[in-house]
Amino acid sequence: LTLLMPAYPSALAALQSPREVAALSGLPCGEGRLLQGRLPEHGFSTVLFDCEGFRQRSGNPYVDESGREYADNAISFASLAHAAVRICAGQTALPVPHVVHANDWHAALIPALLQVAGVQDVASVLTIHNLAFQGNYPLDLAERVGLSSDMAGPDGAEFWGQLSFLKAGIRYADRISIVSPTYAEEVLTARFGCGMEGLLQQRRADIVPIANGVDVQAWNPETDPLIVRRFGIDGLRNKAYCKRALLDMFGLPVMARAPLLALGSRITHQKMADVALAALPQLLERHTRLQVVALGRGEHEYEAGLQALAARFPERVAVHIGYDEERAHALHAGADMLLHGTRFEPFGLTPIYSMRYGTIPIASRVGGINDTVVDAGNAAAPKPGATGVLFDGEQAEDMIAAVERALGWYAKSGEWNALQRAAMSGDFSWEQPARSYIALYCSLAPQATVQVEAAASVETAAPSEHALPLEPVLARIETVRVPASEPVAGFRPVRVVAA
Ligand code: ADP
Repeated sequence: LTLLMPAYPSALAALQSPREVAALSGLPCGEGRLLQGRLPEHGFSTVLFDCEGFRQRSGNPYVDESGREYADNAISFASLAHAAVRICAGQTALPVPHVVHANDWHAALIPALLQVAGVQDVASVLTIHNLAFQGNYPLDLAERVGLSSDMAGPDGAEFWGQLSFLKAGIRYADRISIVSPTYAEEVLTARFGCGMEGLLQQRRADIVPIANGVDVQAWNPETDPLIVRRFGIDGLRNKAYCKRALLDMFGLPVMARAPLLALGSRITHQKMADVALAALPQLLERHTRLQVVALGRGEHEYEAGLQALAARFPERVAVHIGYDEERAHALHAGADMLLHGTRFEPFGLTPIYSMRYGTIPIASRVGGINDTVVDAGNAAAPKPGATGVLFDGEQAEDMIAAVERALGWYAKSGEWNALQRAAMSGDFSWEQPARSYIALYCSLAPQATVQVEAAASVETAAPSEHALPLEPVLARIETVRVPASEPVAGFRPVRVVAA
C-alpha cells in the first residue's frame, strides 16, 4: 500500500527519510514533486505531493483560520489527482498500482482523469465520508483541471451549473464505498442525498457499504494516558475520579448524584447545535441537579449561545471553545452521558468514543449511529443489550424526551450499569472494515494475490452481510506474516494507492 497525500507542512516535517521520486510539470498548478518516505504512525510507504498551495496551510487542511476555504483548493487538489494518475500511468519511479482508492472530493477527480489519460488497467474506488462536502467550483475550471469537454456536461461532472469534484468521482469510479450501511441507504434519498441521489441511484450496483472503525488503542479507558484514572468494564469505580477531574477542568463544582451531560463535537447546524440551545435551558430548569460540559468549535452564533448558557447557569454549565484532544479524552471518560444530536451522520466517531468509556450516548437515529448505537427503547427498563438512547426528529422536544429517558435510567444504578457494560463491550476496531477493503481491492484486481501483513484474521473472516461477495475473494487471499513492504517470492501483491 502506498499512501499519497498533500505535503502539508506538518506532514512534510514528520516524513522520515524523504527522497524525491518525481518532479512533475504540466499540472493544473504548474509544477509539483513527489517525496517518498515513512510517517512514524504507520509502517507503509507514504508519498507526499508537494506544491505551492499545500505549503501555505496555516489553519486546518481545508479552511484558513477564519474558516474560509483556501483559494487554491480546487487547483491544488486537482493537481494531487493528476499526481496519482501519473503514478498509475507508470510515469514516475513508483510501482504502478492495481487499484487507486480516492477519498472524498479532494481526490475524486482521479477516476475521470484516469480515463482522460487512457489508463485502463488500474481500477478505482471512491470513498464518500460526507456527501455534504462536494468540492463545487466554477464550471470554467473544468478544462484547467484536465477534464475532457464531455466530462464537463450534466452526464459528467457538471452539477447545477458548477464543476463538482465529488460528482465526477461518483460518475467515473469503478466502485463507491460509503462509510456505514445506513448512510449508504440514506444517500439514495432526497433528504440525505445532497442533490447526488439520482446519480447514486444509477450507480447503486457499485456502492459498497463499509463501516469505519475507530482507533481502539487511542480510545481505551484501560490504557488511556490522557485520563486521570484508568478503568475497565469490570471496575467502573475509577470513572468517578474521571468525572471529578472533568468537572475540575471545566471549573464546575462537584454535586452529589448530579448527572453530567457532555457535548463534544463541531458546534454546527449539522450537529443540531441550534436544537441543543433550545433544549438545554428547559432541561436545566426542569432538572436542577443536571450539569453540562461542552467542548467544541464551530459556527460563532452557536458558540456564543453556549457561552451565554454557561453565564446563565455558572454552577451547572461550562463551555470550552476549541479543538482539544486532551479535553476530549477527559470528556468521554468523565461524563455520564453524551448528547450528540445530528441532522445527518455518515459514520459518527464521537458516540463510539463515549461508549468505550461507559458514557451513554443520547444521539440522533441517523446514518452510522443507527448501525453502532443500540437504542434502549421506550419501556420502563432499557432493552437488554442497549448501549444508548436514540431519537428521531429535529425539534427541541425530540431531544428533551431522549434526555429525559436517559435521566430516568441514570437514577436507577442497576439499569445504568447494564447500559454502560453493554456500551463498553462493543467491537468497533478496524479489523472487519480492513478485511472488507481488502476484499474490495481483490475483487477489482482479479489477477493479483493479496499480500497481507499478519493477516491470520483475514482467513477467518465472517461472511459479509453486505453486497460484496466476500467468500470467493477471501479464498484468494494468501497470508504472509512479513512486513507488507518486503516482497515475497511467488506473491504478486495487490498494489493500492490510497489518496
Ligand atoms: P463525528 O465524527 O462524530 O461526526 P465531528 O465531525 O464533530 O464528529 O468530529 C470529528 C472528530 O473530531 C471526532 O473524532 C470528534 O470526537 C473530534 N472532535 C470534534 N470536535 C472536537 C474538539 N473540539 N476537540 C477535540 N476533538 C474534537
